[in-house]
Parts: sequence; C-alpha cells; structure tokens
Amino acid sequence: MANVQLDQVRKTYENGHIAVVGATFEVQDAELLVLVGPSGCGKSTLLRMIAGLESVTSGTLSINGRVVNDVAPKDRDIAMVFQNYALYPHMTVAENLGFGLKLRGASKADARTQVGKAAEMLGLTEMLPLRPRELSGGQRQRVALGRALVRDPEVFLLDEPLSNLDAKLRLSMRTEIAKLHRSLGTTMIYVTHDQIEAMTLGHRIVVMRNGEIQQIDTPMYLYDKP
Ligand code: ADP
Ligand code: ADP
Repeated sequence: MANVQLDQVRKTYENGHIAVVGATFEVQDAELLVLVGPSGCGKSTLLRMIAGLESVTSGTLSINGRVVNDVAPKDRDIAMVFQNYALYPHMTVAENLGFGLKLRGASKADARTQVGKAAEMLGLTEMLPLRPRELSGGQRQRVALGRALVRDPEVFLLDEPLSNLDAKLRLSMRTEIAKLHRSLGTTMIYVTHDQIEAMTLGHRIVVMRNGEIQQIDTPMYLYDKP
C-alpha cells in the first residue's frame, strides 16, 4: 500500500537551473501513473526526487504521509529501473537478480524464493544460470525489471525503461509491463517521452513541459482534446 503526494514541489539545481516548478499531484495506491513530456522537461528530476535520490528544493513530497527526504535511504521501500540498466556481466541472471537482496541482508533461502518468484513472473526461469551476454535485449531488460521486483517495493519507478529497445520489442515489453503491474498491484510511476506509450500504459497521465505540470487526466480524456 502506497500513495505518493506532491505539494508545490520545486527543484532548483545548484547551477540555478529550475527543473521542476510547483508540481502538485497525488499518485493513488496501486495506480500506474505515466509522466510524459519532451526531453529536458524535468521528468527524471521529478522521479529522482520521489526516489529520494535528489533533494527537494521546496514544497512537500511524501509517501504514505512520510516526507521522503526525512526517511533514511535504507528505510525507503522504492525501486527504480533506468533506461541504461547495467547488469553485472560476470554474474548469472540468478546472481544479478539476487544481488540487491544479499546487500540488504536477506537470508540465502529467502533470496532464492524471491529470485525464483520474480524469474517466473518475468519468464526468466530458464535463463537463471545464463550470463547477460547470452541474453537478448528484451531478456536483459526483463532482468533489470526483475532486479527491482525481487525487493517487493511499495513504489516502483521506471525511467524510460524501454527506450533502448527496438520498436517491436518495445511494443511487447509494454504489454508485459502492464501485465506485471496488474499482477503486482504496486504503485507505479512510469516516465516516457513517447505519447503512445503513455496513452496505452497510464491509468492517468501527467503531462509536463518546461518543468511545469500542464495537465493530469485519464488517457481517454487526453485523447478527446489533444
Ligand atoms: P527529462 O527527464 O524530462 O529529460 P531532466 O529531469 O533530466 O528532464 O532534466 C530537466 C532539466 O534539468 C534539463 O534542462 C536538464 O539539463 C537539467 N538538469 C538535469 N540534471 C541536472 C543537474 N544535475 N544540474 C543541473 N541541471 C540539470
Ligand atoms: P553464492 O554464489 O554467493 O553462494 P548463489 O550462486 O547460490 O550465491 O546465488 C546467488 C543469488 O541467486 C542468491 O540470492 C540465490 O538465492 C539466487 N539463486 C541462485 N540460483 C537460483 C535459482 N536456481 N533459483 C532461484 N534463485 C537462485
């Protein structure tokens, strides 16, 4: 269970650049919210603030009522998947999936169970003993998703996770992500510059431009008045 609240959230970088201006919206529990807008409009900055990877300059950003910047990193129950997922080349898929759990001190038995579950969910069971170079691009991106899933996060953040894949693969992975969201039932925030991706994936869509939130609507409604 997790909802995310933003109230007049603003980000000014140290060089004075204002990347996010007065963002106010709420992401409901189990919702798949898509943040869409052209490159450079502030999407990643906003996502990184939600992840606690970037400080909030002013305004309030909280998850389940707790201000993100006040929560110690180890207590944050958030996972993030990036566009440039770096898998460990010398480790097997199983080891790649289990690595974060080991770092967090999970027992070997628990790690095994979690890794097995995530692999099954993503169709990676047969690939567990393989190394990244033996996988296709889509399979690798699935391992990157799996690495985030094994932790069973309350909030799942995805930053342009499909933009390195070819068009065909992007389409099938999009469907997989929607399915994954349905079976996990976690709160997901998905960032993309691709409007079609936004329309097909989002329950609601937040449209950003020049650091500002321009519109928040369901895909149907956005489609009616482009
Ligand atoms: P998007 O994800 O929509 O492409 P970003 O959030 O990455 O946009 O960037 C928003 C703006 O903030 C851009 O103009 C970018 O150049 C700037 N920016 C991003 N990171 C930094 C930083 N660390 N320092 C200064 N400016 C930054
Ligand atoms: P180590 O080499 O440190 O003993 P292992 O190779 O046993 O670790 O496993 C690395 C990680 O991957 C662990 O988290 C383990 O639980 C998980 N793992 C390994 N093989 C499998 C498998 N076949 N199914 C599920 N999880 C596995």
